[in-house]
Amino acid sequence: MSLIAVAIAVDSADEVEGAIAAAQAEAARGATMIEWRVDGLAGHEGALESIARLVKNTPKPCIVTIRSSAEGGGFSGDEEERLNLLLAVCKLDAAPSCVDLELGAFQKSPSFQREFAAAKRSTRLILSSHDFEGRPADLHKRIAAMWSEPLCSIAKVAWRARSVRDNLEAFELLHTQHKPTIALCMGPFGIASRVLAPKFNGFLTYARAEGDLGTAPGQLSVQELKHLYHLSRLTRSTRVFGVVGWPVEHSLSPLLHNAAFAAADFDGAYVPFAVPSEWEHFKASVGELFESPLLQLGGLSITLPHKEHALRWCKERGGTADAVSEWCGAANTLVKDLSGTISAVNTDAPAAVAALATGLGIDQQASARLASGDADHSSPADVEAAARWSRQRVAVLGAGGATRAIVAGLLLAGAEVVVANRTHERASQLAAQFNQRKDPGGREARVKALPLDQLAAHSFNAIVNATSAGMTGGGSESSDPLPADCKIAPGMAVMDMVYRPRETPLVRRARKAGAVVIDGTQMFLRQAAIQFQMFTGRNPPMKLWSELLEQKLSGPR
Ligand code: NAP
Repeated sequence: MSLIAVAIAVDSADEVEGAIAAAQAEAARGATMIEWRVDGLAGHEGALESIARLVKNTPKPCIVTIRSSAEGGGFSGDEEERLNLLLAVCKLDAAPSCVDLELGAFQKSPSFQREFAAAKRSTRLILSSHDFEGRPADLHKRIAAMWSEPLCSIAKVAWRARSVRDNLEAFELLHTQHKPTIALCMGPFGIASRVLAPKFNGFLTYARAEGDLGTAPGQLSVQELKHLYHLSRLTRSTRVFGVVGWPVEHSLSPLLHNAAFAAADFDGAYVPFAVPSEWEHFKASVGELFESPLLQLGGLSITLPHKEHALRWCKERGGTADAVSEWCGAANTLVKDLSGTISAVNTDAPAAVAALATGLGIDQQASARLASGDADHSSPADVEAAARWSRQRVAVLGAGGATRAIVAGLLLAGAEVVVANRTHERASQLAAQFNQRKDPGGREARVKALPLDQLAAHSFNAIVNATSAGMTGGGSESSDPLPADCKIAPGMAVMDMVYRPRETPLVRRARKAGAVVIDGTQMFLRQAAIQFQMFTGRNPPMKLWSELLEQKLSGPR
């Protein structure tokens, strides 16, 4: 099991007591090592005494690091002084478990090498190398140079990832080393390397102190590593899953899937993969992730803006696609079976229709089957649900990817659909695209596009917001996408796909009007549940998921 080392920066003697208290708090949270980053402190008079106090009072084994500014640290003083201080730290009665020194500095200082060898007692030497620009061209040479030094106990390489593919190289490095090694990718593309280090037997993964920005970009907190990613469960055989999006850091999918893996005792880990918007990025990144024999990638959730890319990529690669993805031109799930075949599936459509069904009193499981093109026409439940849906007229607001998915699902279920969007041409195009083709069941599609200002003249059984109006962070949190003259009748079903916040302006208005309200979490949970079943073959813990979402969405954001 890899250690979790919390890096705590100490810039002056005044900070020592606070830093010790912070280390104790991190140890209580689950940190198994503390890295004292004394770059700032090292330049001050009496630095050795302060470092001795830190080391003596560290609640867990510790590393002492005085990082030079040349390798991204805060020490810009005299080099000889830095090395002498590090040597003095190794000679303390209560010496640290490890000291970290950059490979370049070590190679340049034969006197440090000599004195460290002479002084060496229990303290182990981490030789390290950092690149804040990107993967160093001589990465492998650097590791080989570290291991060619007899004094090196632990080799560390860290570089700024330029794409999620860099993580694969870090894993390859860890996998091929036979001695304790740390290989980490910094920045938003490198989260997987920090989370999955235990799978590849990394010596440690660094974490930031709670409420701190961390000492390197992309560090997660101990809380996140332990309770969001369940680090202690990871083993060599852990299968990896994840979510691909841009941006992806706010996705709630890791929270749900990792909690469900733990609850089901399924050997899996679920991580975010940030992949920039363009098709070329998606194709290259997702291709390499799935092809990596080391990663053992079992499946991916796909979020904005890659749902169309996912379908295209899967088809170009010779994979299969379900009827809904084919019909609406987008998939939110890629799953690899044991034979290596990859399938593109759209779980948004059945999830949205099943969630809406709860507000219309229609069997939700039968509705999900209808909306995914998997209805059993000999089943009374499916026949009854199809009959009920054929009498529903649903207004869907929007013309983006989410609209496309729910429209496809509603049409498959047999409903009549009206789309209305802020930019009317997009709604017209969307309707025309569906109406040009028969649905996967061979029926003519029934989609009508109406300008928003004509909606009020029509009546509906249900209204669905599939726009991002009302969403936190989208710039239109206070917007209600339903025109003010549209009446919401008591008992009507109103669903908002937006789930951040749960109480959108439309949800509030619909509740006030006495409608049956379905908030965005209902669809979100259902689409994740279908994915979880595909990833693991097991049922997800829906009650636990609802509780986690409740905590997350009602707590501070
Ligand atoms: P998208 O492809 O970017 O489409 C956004 C749509 O929202 C467009 O039709 C856009 O209209 C409209 N829009 C944006 N701001 C608006 C405003 N202020 N007033 C009125 N209309 C506005 O996004 P998407 O993938 O379809 O997703 C839409 C929403 O559904 C997002 O909030 C997303 O989080 C949510 N969603 C939820 C789930 C779930 O599981 N609950 C699943 C998928 C999506 P224009 O065409 O005029 O720009």
